[in-house]
Amino acid sequence: MRRPASIEEGQDVTNKTQQFASDNYAGICPEAWAAMAEANRDSAPAYGEDSWTERASNAFRALFGTDCEVFFAFNGTAANSLALAALCQSYHSVICAASAHVETDECGAPEFFSNGSKLLVAASEDGKLTPEAIRSLATSRSDIHFPKSRVVTITQPTETGRVYTVEEIRAIAAVCRDLGLKLHMDGARFAHACATLGCEPADITWRAGVDVLCFGGTKNGMAVGEAILFFDPALAQDFDYRCKQAGQLASKMRFLAAPWVGMLESGAWLRNAVHANAIATLLADRIGDLPGVDIVFPVEANALFLRAPDPLLQGLRDRGWRFYSFIGGAARFMFAWDADPAIVEALAADIIDLALVETMTAA
Ligand SMILES: *Cc1c(COP(=O)(O)O)cnc(C)c1O
Repeated sequence: MRRPASIEEGQDVTNKTQQFASDNYAGICPEAWAAMAEANRDSAPAYGEDSWTERASNAFRALFGTDCEVFFAFNGTAANSLALAALCQSYHSVICAASAHVETDECGAPEFFSNGSKLLVAASEDGKLTPEAIRSLATSRSDIHFPKSRVVTITQPTETGRVYTVEEIRAIAAVCRDLGLKLHMDGARFAHACATLGCEPADITWRAGVDVLCFGGTKNGMAVGEAILFFDPALAQDFDYRCKQAGQLASKMRFLAAPWVGMLESGAWLRNAVHANAIATLLADRIGDLPGVDIVFPVEANALFLRAPDPLLQGLRDRGWRFYSFIGGAARFMFAWDADPAIVEALAADIIDLALVETMTAA
């Protein structure tokens, strides 16, 4: 696979150790790496006053076709939490799906950074919110004793790899407008959703009614970094202070910004996601019809969730495959920009092999 030469040196080029437990196992893609190296040639002003930061911000504006306000944070937890905090007062609430990363995987950071805004969770099979669920939660209470609904956050794609369609996002935005709620999108894998839908980034964000987007770079091939895009500049007021107070103002900002220049200007952000999605589909094609094995959620992005008998999953572990089973209640395989088709074929062969053993034992 494409790898920066300096990373490849001294490594097993067959990359046999590649695993798919998380898309964060992947390294840095060549385009991001090259831009980092380029930014490292010279010194530059600190705290975002440099030309790389300006160039990255402009690349986002060009990609989204709008004059949005752009900020950079180190990770997704910070990006989500600070964005939500910017949209809320402490007495407000944020509506999300029960499986949303902000609820299950951010250690209370959204509540912490908003000084206590409550997350109101909606039950959801696939991690998607619906207009009905939002309306029902937002209108369940309107008395002074309950936090006032203020924001809706949706994850695109969801934690279980489902992709909201343009129409679904528009319908959610319409309910938000109707109820006076702001709409935030957790786009830790935003590129993967764009790759699936084949749409312009604008079509599933500001044009559909999204106010703030957290655009993930880490899971798309960068070492670190998420961008926060405010499509309504008024909402971004003082956000720079909020980032600084939260420890999210990089002093050498150019190293957070430069990889974005590499990703956006070269188109790698989309190519990487197209590849990752295709690999998830490849595995789904290989194992889709196996007896005793279910692909739990439709494969719409770069994740595949496998439900299988315990001995089969144990067999996979014994053969050295790593995966999580605490997300989505099934074994999760997650593919990144560098997922090697040959290694995925080997994984598929092991799943097929173990499934046959299972059926024979059962018979
Ligand atoms: C990975 C991820 C994030 C960001 O997580 P960090 O570890 O804080 O970078 C946010 N939302 C979702 C849905 C994610 O999968």
